Amino acid sequence: MPQTCIIIGASHAAAQLVLSLRQEGWTGKITVIGDEASLPYQHPPLSKTFLRGDKAANEIFIRPQAFYEKHNIDFILETRVESIHPASKSIILSSGEILKYDKLALCTGSRVRQLTLPGVELNGVHYLRTLRDGEGIKSDMTSAKEAVIVGGGYIGLETAASLKTLGIEVTVVEMASRVLARVTAPVMAEFYTRMHQEEGVVIKTGVTVSTFEGKGKIERVICTDGSHLNTDLVVIGVGIIPNVELAEVAGLDVDNGILVDEFARTNDPDIVAAGDCTNHPNALYGQHLRLESVPNALEQPKSAAASICGKEKAYNALPWFWSDQYDLKLKIAGLSQGHDQVVIRGDKNNSRSFVAFYLKSGKLIAADCVNRPREFLVCKRLIASGSAIDVARLKDENTSPEDFAI
Ligand SMILES: Cc1cc2nc3c(=O)[nH]c(=O)nc-3n(C[C@H](O)[C@H](O)[C@H](O)COP(=O)(O)OP(=O)(O)OC[C@H]3O[C@@H](n4cnc5c(N)ncnc54)[C@H](O)[C@@H]3O)c2cc1C
Repeated sequence: MPQTCIIIGASHAAAQLVLSLRQEGWTGKITVIGDEASLPYQHPPLSKTFLRGDKAANEIFIRPQAFYEKHNIDFILETRVESIHPASKSIILSSGEILKYDKLALCTGSRVRQLTLPGVELNGVHYLRTLRDGEGIKSDMTSAKEAVIVGGGYIGLETAASLKTLGIEVTVVEMASRVLARVTAPVMAEFYTRMHQEEGVVIKTGVTVSTFEGKGKIERVICTDGSHLNTDLVVIGVGIIPNVELAEVAGLDVDNGILVDEFARTNDPDIVAAGDCTNHPNALYGQHLRLESVPNALEQPKSAAASICGKEKAYNALPWFWSDQYDLKLKIAGLSQGHDQVVIRGDKNNSRSFVAFYLKSGKLIAADCVNRPREFLVCKRLIASGSAIDVARLKDENTSPEDFAI
């Protein structure tokens, strides 16, 4: 009897998992169930090229329909999986249909954290997670002259950069005392604040939104510092929450994400999980991580596919990230949390290109590389291999990145 693998979530991770499953030799049925209307697509362009109109919706699909047809992958779209029943190895869909599986993969991703403030339901107030969200913002953008971005994380800042590039006046309201507070060091926050201010974006930190006002449509944002910001468009980017409820109710171990081992296996031998929704061990940093990134959604499914096929392929990749704002291409190698030293290469105060290296006890643990692709590639390799580096060489622009290692 051919076996059936069901994947929940027509996601970034799912698009990789179906390919990896076929590469690992899975000849059985593969069914992907997703609650959105479309085949898996890339989310990063939603705040960048798609928002600016440089890429259309049909250009951000991860794989074309023909790929899935060729590899015999079935999709059930616009359908939620309501529950998982491990004892009978079955799931129940929002249509009421019951499907049996032999192997199950949870690629449920994450959803936006929502605000409960007065007026948040007004037209013109958006979140940004899905293609539908992106289309909603684009539609309101055409008539917008002023926009308020709530949240100064990467998605908020990328959205601010895209809107400003299109000629819209933008104000970013951030509750913390600096932008990017949750994700990076003060040196990066200072740099991006300067960049946005040079582009004409207003950044208000240490300020909280209290109310959204308007007659049916957003007209102004009221902040706790007493300011009233007139606006035609609001985009809220205040973080995400992993979609773990299905797993939790099914009795799978969950703790800030679905708990999996380095092989993407949950505590049920027939269920794996991959992508934003997981909390997984990382041998390089010796800790559990819940990552919100495309590289994670591309690498972890390779381990999940191997596990489904009865093999073991550990997921131990170095975490890395990127962010595009204006002409600034930021690439981040590794995780900087816990650093005790920051070394700067380049002129971060007067140029648009530099590197912030993060060290812990003299060991390189992360690097934020702004318009520095060569340093990024070298640092990725050095951090992953744990190589010893000469700290003095990091900041010396006369030393080539290839010579950072001792
Ligand atoms: C605007 C934006 C910009 C970004 N920019 C970057 C970037 O520059 N670099 C980077 O590395 N990362 C970026 N990311 C993050 C990156 O896109 C995510 O980390 C990645 O998409 C996660 O993939 P995933 O497969 O885990 O989940 P997702 O791609 O989020 O997909 C999960 C899917 O599962 C569906 N689902 C959930 N529950 C169910 C259910 N019960 N039944 C059916 N379907 C269900 C969801 O609706 C969703 O379609 C960005 C994200 C956004 C939103």
